[in-house]
Amino acid sequence: MSGFAWVTLATNDSYSLGALVLAHSLKQAGTAHQLAVLVTPGVTNVMRKNLNDVFNVVEEVNLFDSKDEANLRLLKRPELGVTFTKLHCWRLTQFEKCVFLDADVLVLVNADELFERDEFSAAPDVGWPDCFNSGVFVYRPSMETYNKLVDFALQKGSFDGGDQGLLNAYFSDWAHKDISKHLPFIYNMCSTACYSYLPAFKYYGGNVKIVHFIGPAKPWLQYFDTESRIVQPSPDLQHLQEVLQKWWDIFCSLIHPKLTPDMSGLAGA
Ligand code: UDP
Ligand code: MN
Repeated sequence: MSGFAWVTLATNDSYSLGALVLAHSLKQAGTAHQLAVLVTPGVTNVMRKNLNDVFNVVEEVNLFDSKDEANLRLLKRPELGVTFTKLHCWRLTQFEKCVFLDADVLVLVNADELFERDEFSAAPDVGWPDCFNSGVFVYRPSMETYNKLVDFALQKGSFDGGDQGLLNAYFSDWAHKDISKHLPFIYNMCSTACYSYLPAFKYYGGNVKIVHFIGPAKPWLQYFDTESRIVQPSPDLQHLQEVLQKWWDIFCSLIHPKLTPDMSGLAGA
């Protein structure tokens, strides 16, 4: 097995559905690398079992772990809780290098070449392209970096209240220092790009390897017609119908059959 892993995060059962579809999409794309998911106590035991079936590592991360000095210090700043959760990915030191993927991401084509990049590599954000989007990034697990990030979070906070503001302030030379750390947009095609720059989406969209459903319009919240088995996206996601159909095809064939009846209601309208 390689020392490389794809890492994602789920703090509840809804985002766990995203993580499950993401994992299957990575497998269907034929990745050679391991899959890891960070979970918090908000993920039920039944869902953890489902995650265990497809992820090599299901790592519980607990904000209130009193054995961890860094966590204790963060308890004084509860508003940084969700931000902090993503930082736990630096603690997966059993791996040499990782690519973090948000749970609202879908891999369309094998992207294992991302592991040739170094920390800290990410793609530009559509809202402010001198910032990177923190939904897809290449990093090296390290307790030293983890502790530095926690210290930084305590001292400076996050300018947007989330992990993206914190990571952009910490890896602040990303914008200008080394172009090899700028991932092409096809590795983190944010769903809003379809309507904010439709001609570019039409021209380049076919090359996209990883799609990221940023904002409130998540794949699992789209209307899915159980008769026709066709997803009918909200107006802002119309251009991604094909990709959303892929998300739902994976969900229906590989995930839904394994869910308990009350969990099935987590997805769809
Ligand atoms: N996340 C989670 N539970 C939440 C919110 C976020 O597990 O309640 C994780 C999940 O991996 C998610 C990531 O944090 O993909 C970032 O949040 P989100 O994707 O919703 O932010 P966006 O990409 O829309 O800015
Ligand atoms: Mn996201």
